[in-house]
Amino acid sequence: MITLKEALKLSAGEISELRNELEKKIFADKELGAYVEQLANLPLDKLGAGVPIAIKDNIQVKGWSVTCASKILQGYVAPYNATVVEKLLAAGLAPFGRTNMDEFAMGSTTESSYYGKTLNPLNRERVAGGSSGGSAAAVGAGLAVAALGSDTGGSIRQPAAFCGCVGLKPTYGRVSRYGLGAYSSSLDQIGPITQNVEDAAILYDIIAGHDDKDSTSADIKFESVADKLNADKKLTICVIENYINEASEEAKKALLKAVDVLKAAGHKIIYKNLENSKCDIATYYIIATAEASANLSRYDGVRYGRRAEAKNLKELYINSRSEGFGEEVKKRILLGTFVLSSGYYDAYYIKAQKARAHTKAKYEQILSECDLILMPVAPSTAYKFGELKNPLDSYLSDIYTISVNLAGLPAISVPVAKDADGLNVSAQLIAKAWDEKTLLEGALSLENSIKG
Ligand code: GLN
Repeated sequence: MITLKEALKLSAGEISELRNELEKKIFADKELGAYVEQLANLPLDKLGAGVPIAIKDNIQVKGWSVTCASKILQGYVAPYNATVVEKLLAAGLAPFGRTNMDEFAMGSTTESSYYGKTLNPLNRERVAGGSSGGSAAAVGAGLAVAALGSDTGGSIRQPAAFCGCVGLKPTYGRVSRYGLGAYSSSLDQIGPITQNVEDAAILYDIIAGHDDKDSTSADIKFESVADKLNADKKLTICVIENYINEASEEAKKALLKAVDVLKAAGHKIIYKNLENSKCDIATYYIIATAEASANLSRYDGVRYGRRAEAKNLKELYINSRSEGFGEEVKKRILLGTFVLSSGYYDAYYIKAQKARAHTKAKYEQILSECDLILMPVAPSTAYKFGELKNPLDSYLSDIYTISVNLAGLPAISVPVAKDADGLNVSAQLIAKAWDEKTLLEGALSLENSIKG
């Protein structure tokens, strides 16, 4: 597939050919399940004919159905564009297809979608990762030039790693969340999934920047980075040794090789351990579910999407929510409501907020001694369908990504090797808040060094 950088140089006629070619490919590979709605059903003509970008089904595109892959939002049509979509259009790009995801972005495999699962393009017996599995599978399979996803606890970085693409989660507050279906508002961030690091930088530049419509968007100066990246800059990179040692044998081998090539490229490597990652999981699942329970209370069968049959108002709420939400979403609403309840608020929610501050401080301490941190994205390569048998296995699989969201830092996953089964292993790089430039420079250096 043509890269985003190349696509941005195409003439209007060539872009229209590209869109036709993509449309044909998407129709020919419905089995992959990367897109939830075929393009013919979307009013594409109203959006002009920009360079096509695949959009996760939780980002609003005016006039398009947007459902967060949930039954409860069936029939809802977005009345306005998300700020990121406005920015795409202003830069000569255009939304192209809605991609599959875990329901309300809750999950790590894209198995919980109302539309069915997405397959991994590298091995169709495996999951694409999640929750932005559709976006990653589309880019990985050559069914998209590039895509937008959202990352609350790893949902850009992990599916990108499973499908062999690059996934960037910007610093919290860097990209507007206006028009993103909220899961956990203090953790959610929109970001690019692309074929390479340079494209990630290009798409990041297009979508980043302050937005008055999002009160958590940071009002600090944003300078574009894509045209200023220096892959030869020598950096100090801190390898989290205990995380690498915990990874599967093949992932460990690939990550150690990545460290070697970075060393050979002239970067200074230091080593540290990060303890208590299990606390990060507990902290994340308390905060994320607490915020989700509040955010999802708006889906009541009255204001958005699908309304159930009912005899009175109370029954309308109960039936609409019981029929509309899937199992995992219901579980999280219950857990979130519990940790916010008056009797347990101090014991769980307040404690989780303190633990979150501790995690942030731990990262700040390490980043005061280096430019970048390197660690795995996930404990293993893409799982087989159904391999994560219970929710706890799935929650534990987020161990290396969620703490980055708790700390609000920018991070990227970069492919470093394929294992014996052809599955991809990626390294995760993490930088100081607002320093996407150094993050992308390190990622570019890693990508170039791996290619040799
Ligand atoms: N897997 C994590 C969860 O289920 C992260 C999801 C995400 O980043 N949206 O909450």
